[in-house]
Amino acid sequence: MIEVKDVSKSFGNNQVLKNISFDVKEGEVVVLVGPSGSGKSTLLRCINFLEEFQAGQILVDGEGVGYVGSAGGSRRRQSEADIAHLRTKAGMVFQNYNLFPHKTAIENVMMGPMLVNKESKEEARAHAVKLLGKVGLADKADHFPSQLSGGQQQRVAIARALAMRPKVMLFDEVTSALDPELVDEVLKTLRDLSNDGMTMIIVTHEMQFARDVADRLLFFYQGAIIEDGPPAEVFENPKTERFQTFVKRFQ
Ligand code: ATP
Ligand code: MG
Repeated sequence: MIEVKDVSKSFGNNQVLKNISFDVKEGEVVVLVGPSGSGKSTLLRCINFLEEFQAGQILVDGEGVGYVGSAGGSRRRQSEADIAHLRTKAGMVFQNYNLFPHKTAIENVMMGPMLVNKESKEEARAHAVKLLGKVGLADKADHFPSQLSGGQQQRVAIARALAMRPKVMLFDEVTSALDPELVDEVLKTLRDLSNDGMTMIIVTHEMQFARDVADRLLFFYQGAIIEDGPPAEVFENPKTERFQTFVKRFQ
């Protein structure tokens, strides 16, 4: 469902992704962990083409991300329409949920499908009601973001991303900005999505969650993947000292 092949990316002289390769199968949950600055957000942003990358290739649902032309050969940017289409396939949720403050929860969820996917208001509303129910907010549809807790706002943001009917979901530290008592309700939403079979890449510092939910754990270190395997294996039998040092911080 997602194929990342030999992707490299630099900001100026700073090479942030170094020949990254991995793939994510349909229904698989891959959790990315790693120290600050190791390139996790940059990788997610490349998958949604919010960042350009200089080398390698990314495929989402069989379609090339960002560029036309062969890897290695000459390549040029896809048309803006193709890039917009790609972004409907990969839904992304960030640490700061950025809901539209003057729109209610349900209006936030309905907007993208109406504007981008040209869904009718009735269709968008029916789907939004279903999604708000799924994230446990059926009774908050008409609340404005300021009337919701951080955890509730983040769940609206997840519903908003799901409303675009994405093939895959990318989550970048979606619980990091939340008060500790609100973290579990958002993690539960991610677990539910996983049980529904959604293909996901999740960047998180929640190690217990990673152990429980990930099919695969990738450990990023200075722009490279240095551990890759089922979480039980990586936690019990890490190949690198760096991973051991990293997880000690969370114990
Ligand atoms: P964190 O856990 O703190 O979120 P991260 O693993 O997500 O870290 P990235 O945000 O991907 O790390 O950053 C990787 C590197 O790329 C860092 O050295 C960062 O300074 C650099 N970087 C990220 N965005 C830009 C940018 N727009 N311009 C220049 N450098 C950038
Ligand atoms: Mg980050």
